[in-house]
Amino acid sequence: MRYSPGRRGGVGLTGRRGRPAPADGSWQNWAGTATAAPARWGRPRTEAEISAAVKDAAEAGLRVRALGSGHSFTPAAATDGLALDLSGWTGIIAADTRTGLVTVRSGTTLRALNAMLDGLGLAMANLGDIDAQTLAGALCTGTHGTGARLGGLATQVEALGLVLADGSAVTCSDSERPELFAAARVGLGALGVVSTVTLRCVPSFTLAADERPVPLGDVIEQFDSLAAANDHFEFYWFPYGRKALVKRNNRLAPAGTGAPRAGPMPGWRRFWEYEVMENAGFGALCRLGRASPRLIPALNRFSSGALSARSYTDASHRVFVTPRRVRFVESEYAVPRESLGGVLAELRRAVPRLPDPVMFPVEVRVAAADDIWLSTAYGRDTAYVAIHQYAGLPYRAYFDAFESIVADAAGRPHWGKMHSLDAGRLSALYPRFDDFRRVRAEVDPEGRFGNSYLARVFGPP
Ligand SMILES: Cc1cc2nc3c(=O)[nH]c(=O)nc-3n(C[C@H](O)[C@H](O)[C@H](O)COP(=O)(O)OP(=O)(O)OC[C@H]3O[C@@H](n4cnc5c(N)ncnc54)[C@H](O)[C@@H]3O)c2cc1C
Repeated sequence: MRYSPGRRGGVGLTGRRGRPAPADGSWQNWAGTATAAPARWGRPRTEAEISAAVKDAAEAGLRVRALGSGHSFTPAAATDGLALDLSGWTGIIAADTRTGLVTVRSGTTLRALNAMLDGLGLAMANLGDIDAQTLAGALCTGTHGTGARLGGLATQVEALGLVLADGSAVTCSDSERPELFAAARVGLGALGVVSTVTLRCVPSFTLAADERPVPLGDVIEQFDSLAAANDHFEFYWFPYGRKALVKRNNRLAPAGTGAPRAGPMPGWRRFWEYEVMENAGFGALCRLGRASPRLIPALNRFSSGALSARSYTDASHRVFVTPRRVRFVESEYAVPRESLGGVLAELRRAVPRLPDPVMFPVEVRVAAADDIWLSTAYGRDTAYVAIHQYAGLPYRAYFDAFESIVADAAGRPHWGKMHSLDAGRLSALYPRFDDFRRVRAEVDPEGRFGNSYLARVFGPP
């Protein structure tokens, strides 16, 4: 679909170059759980073009949403107004290898960013499971990895550049517009278009990865000590299996010092483990389960029994990130760390009582408390519990049961993963919720950056 230029025509808004524009101009997310029919597409290539596009949309009475890579399961990015595709607004603007401060254009994918940082001898201190997201998209929904002493991606942000509803470009940080900064680091794109992100990076580092099956009961019992003893600790558990796959990733001393390293996983083994076993093989089991749902508990136990140990070392981002080609739907809640045992016990009791079996594993991760207003780890050391179901299998009863379990633990939903909470429920979970809404009303009084998802989670602008 083509952008029809307004008064400020010629700002380079010509549809989705780089990512093929759907013939009918529609938008769909990765999981297929959200669709939209934007009235207009824009593809700005400079910050001035972002400003012009926002002003043009305002004159046309259109609302505006910036698009990331569409990897949110919620319709956070959906719009019937102007969809701003930022895939032409990428790359590093400035980097100081001494301080680690790196300013990045917001449409840069994490994959591209990791490669560029590598070239500079830098890295992000912590990352999630995949690298397909754009930097701004990942930040806006509070994307996180795991690590009891580390926060999510937004805790690595030093400053943001934003284009506000009136088209003005501003910057914010702890010392400049601190309230806007506290709100916008995890801001769901409700405050403006994030144009640049200044990250506080760390020198590149190597991770020693150790993954092995452990009886689930043992993992739960030793959870606190495992979380404390490892830089990045998480586990997966197939709901009908008895074992969990425990992943421990620990930083190695710089090359040439400390103990000898195991070395990276050979290419053939990486291909076998990730592409064949975790993607092609697991995908085939999922398809079999979808065709014959009564087989799912057995297939799930088989997957659990097939878990095997592996140890290797590699550049941090190659250890954090794994390919995810099997499509699924997901809900994830952040609960106070001390509530995890109770939540998992309830979940284990609930799964066998569900009307439809569950094919995908549960993932458990941790993060340190932070001070970002809408961060799911705001003010409390956090455990994340993520539940998944294979695409095309029924999931409603499972996700509802999970929501009622985590509700008792004051669980906060991941902003980019499926949940049913509204502003009334969310305001009770976030001490600075009303401050967020106040700042939003100040910078976007007309709700230019609104959509139906934001109307649900924040109430009327
Ligand atoms: C396979 C898979 C694995 C995942 N793994 C993890 C994980 O390990 N940890 C985790 O926490 N989450 C994970 N997620 C969730 C994912 O990280 C988030 O949903 C993230 O927001 C997706 O980024 P995106 O670039 O696709 O953004 P989108 O989903 O496209 O957009 C997300 C939000 O950001 C807004 N936005 C995007 N760019 C801008 C901008 N420049 N300015 C203002 N607003 C903007 C959009 O409007 C929207 O509201 C995963 C998702 C999938 C599908």
